[in-house]
Amino acid sequence: MKLSFFSRNKSNNIKRKINFIDLSRQRKSRNHLGFTLKNIIDKNIKNVMDHGQYILGPEVKLLEEKLKNFTNSKYCIGASSGTDALLLALMALGISENDEVITTSFSFFATAEAICLLKAKPIFVDINPNSYNIDHTKIEAKINSKTKAIVAVSLYGQPANFTEINKIASKHSIPVIEDAAQSFGSEHHGIKSCNLSTIGVTSFFPSKPLGCYGDGGACFTNDAKIAERIRRISLHGQEKRYTHTQIGINGRLDTIQAAILLAKFDFYPSEIKKRSKIAQYYSQKLNEINISFTPLIEKFNSSVYAQFTIQINFRNEFQMKLKQNGVPTAVHYPQILPMQPALLDNANIEQITSANKESILASERVISLPFHPWIKESEINYIVNNIKNLISENKDFLIKD
Ligand SMILES: *Cc1c(COP(=O)(O)O)cnc(C)c1O
Repeated sequence: MKLSFFSRNKSNNIKRKINFIDLSRQRKSRNHLGFTLKNIIDKNIKNVMDHGQYILGPEVKLLEEKLKNFTNSKYCIGASSGTDALLLALMALGISENDEVITTSFSFFATAEAICLLKAKPIFVDINPNSYNIDHTKIEAKINSKTKAIVAVSLYGQPANFTEINKIASKHSIPVIEDAAQSFGSEHHGIKSCNLSTIGVTSFFPSKPLGCYGDGGACFTNDAKIAERIRRISLHGQEKRYTHTQIGINGRLDTIQAAILLAKFDFYPSEIKKRSKIAQYYSQKLNEINISFTPLIEKFNSSVYAQFTIQINFRNEFQMKLKQNGVPTAVHYPQILPMQPALLDNANIEQITSANKESILASERVISLPFHPWIKESEINYIVNNIKNLISENKDFLIKD
């Protein structure tokens, strides 16, 4: 639908067009020397063009060093995407056919996909409805002799409860992977996401909190052997040149993407602070109009708000009406993982439904609002005003329980 800029909506607000994420504003950010991010990225990319080390150039190593220090991890290995980082982590743990891997039923498809690519079986666990992360109290019942790993996702930017997950895992000597694709930069009990488990993996997909201009990712670990395995697998299982001691993949982080991330990385700490302030303001404004399902961050966590997600009834209608007023929204995610067509083979739908009640409820109600570190107060006010108008027209949008 084409929006006319000066038409008026019902509240007599000038109609605006809001971006869900506005990376063009990020490019205008300036560092302490007055250079824009755009300038720095242009210069960094030109450097790569000039030195010509397009594969595993010095930028990759430098970035790995910076990310490693940022998370306090002993090792960081760049990867070609978040999905490949997950795959590398699972392969480094030796996950293979008929193994069981316990994971959340509510995440982006890649979490389960990486497990299935290795012909292992994802064993899904329902979420805690407050954090949207795996309900750790339901993990132990799923552990048996086939269980070879736990993959917990830190969804929407907030770490899962790794203190509890690690306790269960170490009792049964099972490694833990954090899918930190949405949570790089957040903390759990003061420890950085990506450094909360045996292996942490993140994504630099453009719309993630720290994103590049294409695909990218990274693996983190404190275990030297695992780090070595991840690196080797990411280089076709190559021990030394043209000697391949195992089956690997082409899973390297691209040098140009590393150069872009090096530029963005310096701005990231201040962006995390802005994200937190904006989330606070947003929540306060939404609470004032009786939206109670704003992001709930546990006392021992911080979030980088990869998504700012609330809950609403009659989501399709709500979403359509906001769109008509220039407010884009997204649904993360409309379907739980065990109900995805690709995973439904031989599944017992009744059993899935009864075991994943909270994930299903979330999948029916969640809606993510425009959110990024450069959103303006006036834009948040506009969005909240539009929501307020919708609710005054129809109170049934509000979730009461
Ligand atoms: C984005 C995402 C991934 C995949 O990352 P890519 O870089 O897009 O491959 C995996 N898991 C979660 C939770 C994600 O949000």
